[in-house]
Amino acid sequence: MEKIDIKSLSLDELKEVVKEMGEPAFRAKQLYDWMHVKLSDSIDGMSNLSKEFREKLKATCYYTVLEPVQVLRSKLDGTCKYLFRLPEEQQKLKNNVIESVLMRYKHGNSVCISSQVGCRMGCRFCASTLGGLERNLTAAEMLEQIYRIQQDSGERVDNVVVMGTGEPMDNLDNLFRFLNMLSDENGLHISKRNVTVSTCGLPDGIRALADAGADCTLALSLHAPNDELRRTLMPIANKISIREALAATDYYFEKTKRRISFEYSLVSGVNDTREHALELAQLLKGRNCHVNLIPVNPIAERDYKASTAPNVAEFLSVLEQNHINATVRRTLGSDISASCGQLRKSYRA
Ligand code: SAH
Repeated sequence: MEKIDIKSLSLDELKEVVKEMGEPAFRAKQLYDWMHVKLSDSIDGMSNLSKEFREKLKATCYYTVLEPVQVLRSKLDGTCKYLFRLPEEQQKLKNNVIESVLMRYKHGNSVCISSQVGCRMGCRFCASTLGGLERNLTAAEMLEQIYRIQQDSGERVDNVVVMGTGEPMDNLDNLFRFLNMLSDENGLHISKRNVTVSTCGLPDGIRALADAGADCTLALSLHAPNDELRRTLMPIANKISIREALAATDYYFEKTKRRISFEYSLVSGVNDTREHALELAQLLKGRNCHVNLIPVNPIAERDYKASTAPNVAEFLSVLEQNHINATVRRTLGSDISASCGQLRKSYRA
């Protein structure tokens, strides 16, 4: 019999499971509290549950806990990179690992989480996609990245960005479940307004998120101002045009009134000229949006180089002159920088 993944269940679903086990309903709330507020790392540690109930849970349920196998701590700004091993039962002994990052800002602590093991979107400059997609992460595995980091740091996590390995819109059911549980007042109660979901631009997912009234910040990875150039960087551009992706983000804005973020990784000599900046400004004109410029993190397997500081500055000023809100993303943890997905790759190699 397949074990029940209890940490991925909503409180209402958990009540059903607990009822079927013949336990009183209030036990579900206690159990939920141990998992999602006290962030307990074992069923045995749940001291106000009877031994008998705990044994029953262990026999029929699966309790997801991520194990940190490596933690890199920046001495410069307190950024921490975590490499977590996934639970064996779920990963069928594959020894899969995922990456998450804790970033400390003036406005609070942000955690960047992964949504999949690997990715199948194939973006040319991204290390996470090199080995393809291994599998989706469950809601519990997404939550656990935040829970373990909060426990390890001893500090409250205020913001969450779904910007680590994986394409969240390619794992929509688990993403929705994760978002609902994260913001549940019976759990960590992190408002969806404090969550950013980043996507390469899958319109159905963007619209579904808007229709679910999710209220998160949506970030679209654009990286090019026209389809021709975008296709050279992002295979998804062969299937979905910029116009289709923008139509979906416009819909998202209409429904949620949340300002859209556009991510633009600057690659030297590829997408970082003055003309590209002008074309981007033209494309986004009239939209309530913010552009995040990110000098690309070079990865060993590809020949892409980051734009130079003067190029980045000029790109930014062209956008500003054309009344497009834009900032250059500050580099955190430069002393521990294995660029996005590189830490995981080096562990698996
Ligand atoms: N799949 C989602 C979320 C994960 S990637 C998405 O595409 O948005 C998070 C962001 O990091 C994306 O904007 C992605 O394009 C960018 N990224 C990936 N590799 C990068 C690299 N080497 N340098 C700079 N940005 C990178």
